[in-house]
Amino acid sequence: MITFNKPYLSGKETDYIKEAVSNLKISGDGIFTKKCHQFFQDRYGFKKALLTTSCTDALEMAAILLDIKEGDEVIAPSFTFVSTVNAFVLRGAKIVFVDSSTEHPNMDVDAIEPLINHRTKAIVVVHYAGVACDMDRVMDIADKHSLFVVEDAAQAIDSFYKGRALGSIGHLGAFSFHETKNIISGEGGMLIVNDERLINRAEIIREKGTNRSAFFRGEVDKYGWVDIGSSFLPSDIIAAFLFAQLENIDRIQKRRLQIWELYFEQLTCLIDKGVGLPMLPIYASNNAHMFYLVCESLEQRTKLIAYLKEQDMHAVFHYLSLHKSPYYKAKHDGRDLPNSDAFTDRLIRLPMYYELTNDDVIKITKRILAFYDI
Ligand SMILES: *Cc1c(COP(=O)(O)O)cnc(C)c1O
Repeated sequence: MITFNKPYLSGKETDYIKEAVSNLKISGDGIFTKKCHQFFQDRYGFKKALLTTSCTDALEMAAILLDIKEGDEVIAPSFTFVSTVNAFVLRGAKIVFVDSSTEHPNMDVDAIEPLINHRTKAIVVVHYAGVACDMDRVMDIADKHSLFVVEDAAQAIDSFYKGRALGSIGHLGAFSFHETKNIISGEGGMLIVNDERLINRAEIIREKGTNRSAFFRGEVDKYGWVDIGSSFLPSDIIAAFLFAQLENIDRIQKRRLQIWELYFEQLTCLIDKGVGLPMLPIYASNNAHMFYLVCESLEQRTKLIAYLKEQDMHAVFHYLSLHKSPYYKAKHDGRDLPNSDAFTDRLIRLPMYYELTNDDVIKITKRILAFYDI
């Protein structure tokens, strides 16, 4: 059986966990958390990195930080994971969904501006498959209308827009280290704060609404309740696991890219059969988070998934357009979002993980080509 995903252990995860445990400082913001923060800030130029227990939590922190409240509107893609928008719905916002572009699941940047009105507070972009949205254009629109930009960079670690790290461009960025991502800690995430005005408050929100972080740095002589917040920081045990992964990020990324390129090379000929392959705009890098195809129809995709399953190969689909979800359908303003629906019906993700061998990839691609009579 070739599974869809297999979490990769780079070697030192349990050693570092043991070390964290023997340090006897296993709550949040211990030695390994600090090492992870430093790593991210040095390598990617993030102003402030703050580990969280998930990307979902990082997005919830973002919504609190931006003072999202009842009556506010947030513009976001429909073709994404629920957490991208649920975080803002929790604060009372209305989500105004944008369609995907025709050639890529990322949001259609041309469709953003007509959706802006005096209630609009933020634009949340999702770098689907780790491929950058056109951030210069998004930031220009946001500047013009005084909006905040949050990058849902859950899938976008070690990926770049015109040479700038994703997550470093918007006012805020959110990453995931869930076991299905490139770099993992089981569950885990990170909030990036690039807007300096928001750093202080981000630390407070992450520490249950207290100024504990400033207290530990000796900046205030007592700490107390100064704002709303929650417990968003992970145990240092999680950070220990994550740091072992970060030390191997170049090796992990290199292998994932080899796998991605092998898929691409083997499957390019499917274009003649009307099947879509991943599209990388010139401004975007590839972090090999995902390899997907876009089938001609829902029926074709259903058959392809079943066909691969018969050969013990596990391919999957996602996402389901959020504007048509049971929870949001009635709240959506009724606009059709045909490209989001097309990716909902037709996109298929192929197995992608560090330990997938070249032989595995060839086995899978041979089957896919056979399915299309090539
Ligand atoms: C994985 C993912 C999330 C959620 O990440 P968690 O760490 O599981 O909370 C959010 N947005 C996108 C686009 C994702 O792919």
